[in-house]
Amino acid sequence: MIIIKTPAEIEAMKEAGRVSAKVLRKTGELVRPGVSTLELDRFAENLIRMEGGRPAFLGYGGFCGTICSSVNDQIVHGIPAGDVVLQEGDIISIDTGAIVGGWYGDNAATFAVGQITEQAQRLLDVTEESMWAAIAAAQPGNHLGDIGHAVQRIAEAAGFGVVREYVGHGIGRDMHEDPNVPNFGKQGKGIRLEPGMVLAIEPMINAGTHKTRGPFVDRWTVYTADGSLSAHFEKTIAITEGSPLVLTAE
Ligand code: MG
Repeated sequence: MIIIKTPAEIEAMKEAGRVSAKVLRKTGELVRPGVSTLELDRFAENLIRMEGGRPAFLGYGGFCGTICSSVNDQIVHGIPAGDVVLQEGDIISIDTGAIVGGWYGDNAATFAVGQITEQAQRLLDVTEESMWAAIAAAQPGNHLGDIGHAVQRIAEAAGFGVVREYVGHGIGRDMHEDPNVPNFGKQGKGIRLEPGMVLAIEPMINAGTHKTRGPFVDRWTVYTADGSLSAHFEKTIAITEGSPLVLTAE
């Protein structure tokens, strides 16, 4: 069941979104060769608490991090660890969310570690562009398929693979609400989008095949099947009568 939010509820969600966005930005600023993903995680947790929030992922399904830190061929749900030390040329997806006043915010971005290859930069650029196209499609009168189609059109035109097994989601007083928001689909198909729907839109795009492998023994980390790089960008948005409203914004 899709839970429609009132304008007052959407207003309240802005604070969870603001904290989530600030933590993502500030944590991203620490990305450099030599830093461990555990250091990034500790920083993010402290900042969320200083901002009056609680980490949304910590303890979720037993997850032990404040951030998901997914490096290179890891698509999503990488676990922060002291022995995962970033190296020049890596890319890292940082996904983080905060709970404030009972509302969830959720956002992600993929960052370059030092100098990265042109191909890696293009993957980051195309993935972010596909997210913005999907957000632009989140308008009343459009359908869920229009969001996925927007991602797929851009990513596949660039020769990249769109992950199928993991998708965006509704969000509110729970981190994962209906509907699922796939990053692939057909224009005009799926449920009709309405004002008051709040969605986490999050393309996961692989430089090679769309196929995934894992999670394995750590129960979380998902990898590209062919070892190619993967990028991930996410924002929490509200559908309004007018343009979509990005809630994970400062
Ligand atoms: Mg999400």
